[in-house]
Amino acid sequence: MRALLTYRVAVEAQAGMRVRVPLGARRSVVGVLWQRLPAQSLDFAVKPVDAVLDRSPLLSAHDVRCVAWASEYYHFPLGECVLAAFPPALRQDKGRDMADGDRPGGTALARVLDPHGWVLTPEGAAAWAAGQVRGSQQKALMSALLASPAGVLVEDLPAVPAATRSRLLDLGWAVVHSMPVEGAAGGALGLNSEFPEISMSSIALNAAQQAAVDAVWQARAQFGVWLLEGVTGSGKTEVYLALIAVVLREGGQALVLVPEIGLTPQWVARFSARLGFAPTVLHSGMAEGARLRAWQAARTGRSRVVIGTRSAVFQPMAALRLVVVDEEHDVSFKQQEGFGYHARDVAIWRARDLGVPVVLGSATPSLESWRNRALGRYHGVFLPQRARAGAAPPVMQLLDVRRLPMQAGLSAPLRAAIEQHWQAGGQVMLFLNRRGYAQSLLCHSCGWVAECPHCDAFVTWHRQARRLRCHHCGHEQAVPTACPSCAAPLSAAGLGTEQLEDALAGLFPGAGIERLDRDALARVGELDRRLARIESGEAQLIVGTQMLVKGHDFPGVTLVAVVDADQALFANDFRAPERFAQQLIQVAGRAGRAARAGLVLIQTHQPEHPGLQRLLRDGYGPYAEQLLAERAAAGLPPVQPAALLRADDPDAGVAQAWLTQMAEWLRADFAELAVWGPVPAPLARRAGRHRFQLLLIAPDRPLLQAALRGLDEAFAQRRVGKLRWSMDVDPVDMA
Ligand code: ADP
Ligand code: ZN
Ligand code: ZN
Repeated sequence: MRALLTYRVAVEAQAGMRVRVPLGARRSVVGVLWQRLPAQSLDFAVKPVDAVLDRSPLLSAHDVRCVAWASEYYHFPLGECVLAAFPPALRQDKGRDMADGDRPGGTALARVLDPHGWVLTPEGAAAWAAGQVRGSQQKALMSALLASPAGVLVEDLPAVPAATRSRLLDLGWAVVHSMPVEGAAGGALGLNSEFPEISMSSIALNAAQQAAVDAVWQARAQFGVWLLEGVTGSGKTEVYLALIAVVLREGGQALVLVPEIGLTPQWVARFSARLGFAPTVLHSGMAEGARLRAWQAARTGRSRVVIGTRSAVFQPMAALRLVVVDEEHDVSFKQQEGFGYHARDVAIWRARDLGVPVVLGSATPSLESWRNRALGRYHGVFLPQRARAGAAPPVMQLLDVRRLPMQAGLSAPLRAAIEQHWQAGGQVMLFLNRRGYAQSLLCHSCGWVAECPHCDAFVTWHRQARRLRCHHCGHEQAVPTACPSCAAPLSAAGLGTEQLEDALAGLFPGAGIERLDRDALARVGELDRRLARIESGEAQLIVGTQMLVKGHDFPGVTLVAVVDADQALFANDFRAPERFAQQLIQVAGRAGRAARAGLVLIQTHQPEHPGLQRLLRDGYGPYAEQLLAERAAAGLPPVQPAALLRADDPDAGVAQAWLTQMAEWLRADFAELAVWGPVPAPLARRAGRHRFQLLLIAPDRPLLQAALRGLDEAFAQRRVGKLRWSMDVDPVDMA
């Protein structure tokens, strides 16, 4: 790992504070003070820091340990890992050089870096008692200060003109204090007057929910991982809410991790309604200022419940007492590029370090968690039935489409079923994992296919945008009007969601149609508008990709159609069968969430596929057991831990030779390590770079970690000429 750098710093500076330091001759960068060394160990060559940016540490000892662990475990430079604990606004040195109040942003940021509060002075109290406080605004300010003897954070002061505020300070009735961060990790916040009572649900938990809550609640004073396995609609969210209520009553904070941004509007609305206040939301799509405020509120403990996506797992929190990871099997919890952490695993590490429970919720647990429960490392809690009265599990049926004529990817039986459910007043969801109009453009006369010039991949036709786009490197080009090689007309190949949407409009005139995919997220508020049209019933036919399966609750859906199940059956990643089953069950869970029974139709050319058969006949549990047995037999994760070494270069030979060298080095030093490759990555060329990979599988974690540390030491530079290489520990995606 990249070494820590040593600087001279004032005695008052503490670990967890940010500093600006000189780097090389000209550069100056923001860093975090990591540890203090005894003064005598410094020699005279050590430069002083340019500035200490914070007056109190922004990271607690727990946060520092967490980042250090993640850096070591995922083999990513500490200096870059630590940034994950900060919002983007604090990763640079803004605000410090600006005189207070002079320039926009300057004051606000300075306050946030070191939370300032106002405290009433004895003179102020005397003035109040003597009736010297005049005017409604001065009174508002003074009464806020009187109500909080410990001080009021600047951002929480009543909104009064700056002149009124200054006057109060001039009179000596109040002083500005830097407010200590309440309760470092592990401490209690004490009940805040903002939440005198948690106004919880009118819903009475059913027996299974109550048992789950009791089990976690009774063990809440210590670390434990609770795998909450419950079918879609079984009321897992209600279990989280009940546990959060307990934690809040005891003065703690809760952190809830969810897979996707698309989920948060519904979640936030539901949490707000049930808790009586809005939870703090954290995700990477937020504006910088809002994210900074949310970060600060969570860090100081002012906000009690934080809902966030992957990156929120590093959020500093003053009194974290409960962590929830919803849809724990979801691949979006794993960061694919750069710092390749898995938010679920970091969450578990944090809970262990703090001695608090962590709840992993899923209808289809990952094989990792499944195995950990079997080994007794995780506790199992179960919600076997749908919670809402009358909601039955959906019926799943395979639709053998061999030899059936298809219209826009829809067979006649499926078209009939859509018609029937639509006419009966139900909503229909069509699931297709390919956005855009068509996978590519094809020439029927000469066989030309539109491909990305930089990747080994097709370019997707986005008809509404009138562009061909590469989903791997972002390359875009205009749509050719005819085949560039023989001038014949071109046709669409490989059905995409846009095309399906168009086709449905022709097949079902009068139906309201809505599409949910990543393209629909491009504009702010667009997703909300589309969700609203679905919720109101204005849209009856809904087309979408994976996003559809992420937790949205549409009670009116009675039919779910999987347009093309074959796509997933032929993927070459050993995790594909697991993902496929998880997605299928999630999709199926969208059907019949309310009183009306749900039907799931799965179009396939492989109706005899043994995995598909087992999944439909026996359900996810036996299917998962079988997959786990196969992984054990093959010595694959999660039974044996793995890491992937990736290298890419404009020259294929260079990347391959580099990994070959690493493979030889590893084989010589670690006889028990299985080293597979190098082989070309599934996407062999991306953005003009040839990609190769080496898969390492070890009998145990210590050996794997030793091998990776060895590589770090032997091949310290991650860039060699134009070559880049990286490590992916516990990879979830072989691409
Ligand atoms: P999950 O998170 O497991 O998918 P939810 O918590 O979203 O399930 O619950 C599914 C539906 O059932 C929601 O509409 C919820 O309000 C309802 N529900 C949950 N628990 C109960 C209960 N104990 N009694 C009645 N309805 C419930
Ligand atoms: Zn042609
Ligand atoms: Zn490309």
